[in-house]
Amino acid sequence: MNILVTGGAGYIGSHTVRLLEKKADRVVVYDNLVKGHRQAVGKSVFVQGDLLDSGKLIDTIQRYAISSVVHFAAASLVGESMGKPRDYYRNNVQGTLNLLDVMLDNKVGKLVFSSTAAVYGEPEITPITEDAAKNPTNVYGRTKLAMENAMDDYSRAYGLKYIALRYFNACGADPAGDIGEDHEPETHLVPLVLRACLGKSDGIKIFGDDYPTQDGTCIRDYIHVTDLAQAHGLALEALYGGHGSDVYNLGNGSGFSVKEIIEAAETVTGIKIRQEVIARRAGDPAVLVAGAAKIKRDMNWQPQYTDIKEIIATAWRWHRANPDGFPRLGDR
Ligand code: UDP
Repeated sequence: MNILVTGGAGYIGSHTVRLLEKKADRVVVYDNLVKGHRQAVGKSVFVQGDLLDSGKLIDTIQRYAISSVVHFAAASLVGESMGKPRDYYRNNVQGTLNLLDVMLDNKVGKLVFSSTAAVYGEPEITPITEDAAKNPTNVYGRTKLAMENAMDDYSRAYGLKYIALRYFNACGADPAGDIGEDHEPETHLVPLVLRACLGKSDGIKIFGDDYPTQDGTCIRDYIHVTDLAQAHGLALEALYGGHGSDVYNLGNGSGFSVKEIIEAAETVTGIKIRQEVIARRAGDPAVLVAGAAKIKRDMNWQPQYTDIKEIIATAWRWHRANPDGFPRLGDR
């Protein structure tokens, strides 16, 4: 297994690379470092490149005799996607189509794809199963759904074998504490709450408390990044073992409201967090909770982290040790 990991210097990518390094013959990280961190890549080969640079992609795939791809590289912020659709279509659609072309032209036929719960939109039934209606409420979700559809078509026409993993809310950090979440700007709830605990902000702004949920705030399914990473290894093994193209939800199967996450973080850190309710954020569905029975059944995937406080504790370890994120290159 010589695996190309696009976006392997990012948050979920780097955690996955860490696990794949134990299974693969060779892991090659391909990342443009617009959002990723060179320091997050361990001993894998690193190539700085963009998905739109076909020449570099072809060269990398041929040079390292790549046999499969795990494709993380994408823009992934719901709020941002609403105001910058061009960036999202260029990165997530044009970039992925480019990667697929290069793969097919070079006979690389196995792909694990980062998809998202955002493809469902506002679900009719909770927990959501994979066959639920797909009506994304935001641009980000629409770009990912478009690529799921393209892969499905390519699978039928060209024999591409892909597994799309629809992530719910990734959070936490490797328990070793040396890699973790470091986005600039940060928009995700858990790191923002922990930054508030570190005194790096005035507190947390809750995007709406008038949703049809028990406490009025949005409910999400929070899954530890290492559990998410583990699933990519299983998906790859399944593809190498002859598993056909398929789609899986990847979540813990239980939902927490924004207020419950803040409370859990207060318990873990022992710090009171200032909170203010502001307007809803465009594109946010009220409730997103995964039905994850399919991946448990087909791939024997079992999340190791099911306690939200334990998940937040691993993130807290990372943030406390690295309050400014990864050291900027040149700082050391
Ligand atoms: N959220 C919030 N305040 C923030 C950031 C997020 O209330 O400063 C809410 C957001 O509306 C959503 C949940 O927290 O309901 C998780 O948001 P996040 O951006 O972490 O992940 P997403 O669900 O968008 O993938």
